[in-house]
Amino acid sequence: MKPGERNRNAQQLLRTTDTRGTDHNSRVWILNCGACGNIYGCNSTDAFERKCPACQRGKPGLEIPIERDGEDWSREEHIIAFNLYSQIPFGSIHMRNPKVIELAAVLGRKVGSVSYKLANFARLDPALQARGIRGMPRGAKGEAAVWDEFSQNAEQLAFESERLLAARLGQSIEAVAEIDVDDLPPPGVEREAIVKLRVNQSFFRRRVLSAYQYRCCVTGMPIQPLLVASHIVPWADDAVNRLNPRNGLCLNALHDRAFDRGLMFVDEAMCVRFAPRLRSEAADAADWLLAFDGRALILPAKFSPDASLLAQHRERWRVAA
Ligand SMILES: [Zn+2]
Repeated sequence: MKPGERNRNAQQLLRTTDTRGTDHNSRVWILNCGACGNIYGCNSTDAFERKCPACQRGKPGLEIPIERDGEDWSREEHIIAFNLYSQIPFGSIHMRNPKVIELAAVLGRKVGSVSYKLANFARLDPALQARGIRGMPRGAKGEAAVWDEFSQNAEQLAFESERLLAARLGQSIEAVAEIDVDDLPPPGVEREAIVKLRVNQSFFRRRVLSAYQYRCCVTGMPIQPLLVASHIVPWADDAVNRLNPRNGLCLNALHDRAFDRGLMFVDEAMCVRFAPRLRSEAADAADWLLAFDGRALILPAKFSPDASLLAQHRERWRVAA
């Protein structure tokens, strides 16, 4: 088995290690159960037929090696950790989060170290600092360096972080970034460009949706397939803010369209407003939309929308309104 492959019991190989297993000549490999998400160690010799100890009555798992414990975090590890920080809701950074456990197993580090690393990123987050989350501890330069690099070159770093994570997991970047591959052109320059664009769009989507805890910020609707990470200032108009989660709103598809077409906007008090022409032209038909007029936006714990970008959106549609 190679990392990324599954055995016949849906146990996926997350990582191989050099740590001795309990069988003769075996090493400890780390499996991730495709049925329940349990992560555990097993002997390399029986990985191909291993059953999950948690949900398939397999024998108890071996301890997961933490070879990197105590080592300095590399730039690559920081970038991968930042990727995860970007995609999990604030409040989910703890040692029981399956994503945190998975990353620790992938990196060969303690779950507590990964959780601490992610919390350090939260301390750098201006939105969280504004809410009184205290500043960085000493000796956490690596986090600050990656945070700054990301602010300056988000598109490059977002793609790189997904590529690095995919390589560690033995999966394709298309799979890790959860992008649609059905209509991609054959391998070549054109395909690469499209993949890069979609990976970054997907990264933006996951960042924004997770920040809003997968709820529409107007209606509170939590149905994920109907949620859109809406750009406040469009992708094409502002390259610098393309991946900036503070240039995003989590909206249901209908309000997203209304916002995108200037039929809806957010005022200075962070309340939802609808264009007068919607009221006059289609008052009856637009009942459901208009029911939310004047409601306060349901703001996220992190990455709250940037007031100046919302002002730009209002400005852009002033004529139409
Ligand atoms: Zn399981």
